[in-house]
Amino acid sequence: MQLDTLTLRVAFAIVAFTLALLFYFAAYRSTRSPYSAWWCVALTLFLAGSAAYLFNGTPQQVWANPLGNCLLVAGGACVWAGARSLRAARPRSWQLAAGPAVVTVSSALENPGVNIWAGGAVFLALMGLMLGLASRELWRLEPGYSRVRIPLAIAAAFFAAYYFCRLVVYLAEGPDGRIFVTYFGSAVTTLVTMVLLVVVSFSMAALSSEQQTRALRAVATQDGLTGLLNRAAFLDLASEELLRLRHTRALGTLVLADLDHFKAVNDTYGHAAGDAALQSFASACNETVRSTDLVGRYGGEEFIFLLPGVSPDRAEAITAEINKQLEAVRGPDGSRMPTVSYGIAPIGKGTSGLDELIATADAALYRAKSLGRNRTVRGIHTP
Ligand code: GH3
Ligand code: MG
Ligand code: MG
Repeated sequence: MQLDTLTLRVAFAIVAFTLALLFYFAAYRSTRSPYSAWWCVALTLFLAGSAAYLFNGTPQQVWANPLGNCLLVAGGACVWAGARSLRAARPRSWQLAAGPAVVTVSSALENPGVNIWAGGAVFLALMGLMLGLASRELWRLEPGYSRVRIPLAIAAAFFAAYYFCRLVVYLAEGPDGRIFVTYFGSAVTTLVTMVLLVVVSFSMAALSSEQQTRALRAVATQDGLTGLLNRAAFLDLASEELLRLRHTRALGTLVLADLDHFKAVNDTYGHAAGDAALQSFASACNETVRSTDLVGRYGGEEFIFLLPGVSPDRAEAITAEINKQLEAVRGPDGSRMPTVSYGIAPIGKGTSGLDELIATADAALYRAKSLGRNRTVRGIHTP
């Protein structure tokens, strides 16, 4: 059977166009997730790139062929960027632009007016690289993400491997070699790409709606200024954790922190400086506590920690470590961070509930303030 490249390319264009439209209306318009946006752009670039190849064999080939290579590699870069966006990471603009730029230059240098494989080796290598990077991103997603990521990661890895095989055979026997034409030429590639686009788009829709759900959940549980848990989310998670601690009879500590004379920071340096100080405090906390600890913004300049398995002694060492980090922080005008007062409530056998723990920590915090601030005071638990 002889596959006709032109017919296949037209079919491919129709499939890619339909998918791009479907994806735009069904996924992007409703979820606005970065993932679906990148995938829409990628589909459009694949479509435009394949359309540019339709000029092969005409006088336009001289610019259309390098353009086609450039657009397809840019599409590959968008697939990578989309996969990366699932981890809320972004490639830098130069990383996205480098591949398309390199392939355009190398195609332009290899006589693109008559050579339809101008820049072929660089093109194949870059496509393999972009798809390989996309696959790596999908593997690196936390296991909590839906299982759809696994077939996607495999599809991307398969595609990357296919492009690397094409590259090897291309380098070994050139674009007119028997193996290259039979297994890795334009006709077979167009067909394989078409099937994979359909599979990948289908799974992408599931992932992009998951990305939206996660983003909404993060907004609902995070404090906008500091990125810490907000009060409601902290209280929810802390109640659960407390139940677990009681069940396993484990110890722990609850800490309330309040920045000292914080009003003066706002009054002296302005509200923006106050906000920056709150963010610095939040980073110092994040640097110091473990990932299993809960840290929340309890109110304006009050913060709350639940440290499972941590004794009050150890909790005091943690507050000292936070203070040490804050000492090194300077505002843009050289101003220092305000000091902090802490109230500590030990979680033990007699502890009944979260409200009671917070009341104990709050009383200790009050004592820390009245003893002159900038200190940590331990609360005495009164069952
Ligand atoms: P104390 O040592 O007794 O805690 O004194 P204080 O000045 O820190 O306490 P007070 O409760 O009098 O003032 C808290 C200030 O925190 C008042 C409020 O304007 C400020 N504040 C609360 N939330 C924010 C915020 O999100 N950003 C900024 N910049 N300031 C805030
Ligand atoms: Mg306060
Ligand atoms: Mg205060």
